[in-house]
Amino acid sequence: MSITRRGFLGASLAAAMDGWQPAAAAGARVTLDQLQPGVYVARAHNAEVARANAGEVVPTLVHVTGAGVLVVDPGPQAAWGGALLGAIRALTPQPVRWVVNTHAHPENVLANAALARLRPRPVFLASAATAALMRQRCADCLARLQAQLGRAAMRGTTIVLPEPALQAGGWLHTGATAWQVQVHDNAHSASDTVLYAPQLRLLCAGGLAYQERVPEMQEASLQGWRQALRQLAALPADTVVATAPGTPAQTLVPTLAYLDALASGIGAALAAGCDASHAIDAVAAAPFRRWRHFHARHPLNVQRAWRQLEDLWMQGEPLA
Ligand SMILES: [Zn+2]
Repeated sequence: MSITRRGFLGASLAAAMDGWQPAAAAGARVTLDQLQPGVYVARAHNAEVARANAGEVVPTLVHVTGAGVLVVDPGPQAAWGGALLGAIRALTPQPVRWVVNTHAHPENVLANAALARLRPRPVFLASAATAALMRQRCADCLARLQAQLGRAAMRGTTIVLPEPALQAGGWLHTGATAWQVQVHDNAHSASDTVLYAPQLRLLCAGGLAYQERVPEMQEASLQGWRQALRQLAALPADTVVATAPGTPAQTLVPTLAYLDALASGIGAALAAGCDASHAIDAVAAAPFRRWRHFHARHPLNVQRAWRQLEDLWMQGEPLA
């Protein structure tokens, strides 16, 4: 990649990060910020799902390829999906051809409902594990999100399941762009799919990376997530779109630093014979104290990490 192009990428990403000036088009409620030519992210709250943000917390990736539009993680409900489509229509007449669900969390996938109404209908794609989890859980997740956000927010939202067509190590071809598919089992969730476009130096990391926000670990495996992030951090990429868009240094690196702090602090406490009542003091959390949701989320993460590492410790597994 030429210096000029990399310079442009850096500048446009900085513009997108700094004050969130809309670079392209705004729908009723969805604004798409351009990250590089043809690549946009929907402006979303960098926060956990709450009634106040209507669950609009996923920066949906939109890639206008020349041969159709790719949408990754369409969002939490039909209304957001409809507004997203309005914003896409303002950019291009190309049809949405591919919709990817990275993992089976409702705020990422339930807006499939709006995109499934398109004709011709896009293909909905996920890994086999994510497709199976969605089949198992989407009904419960929809009910839970209705209870949390209110029925009005979820109006028109039905369950649309993806095809289990994405395979680890395979490629998804969208026009001239090839996306390498990675599937990480037991990381942020039971299965997390990553798309990586080497030509674009762009990594679509789903729930695996956070920016200035404490990661959600309700379904996470600490060690699996750390391993996934170490692999992702080794890829040549300029831009990461995950729970927030940013550079690898703004997303992958600090998320891994937080998880490493959990592992090293708790590992040392277990080695010293401490019990779980000292878990919260065992983790050097000062660098993360200003991240969003620290006071509510961090203690839950420490408890979960302690349970997992204690099990590994009892089995004689290395905790590094
Ligand atoms: Zn998630």
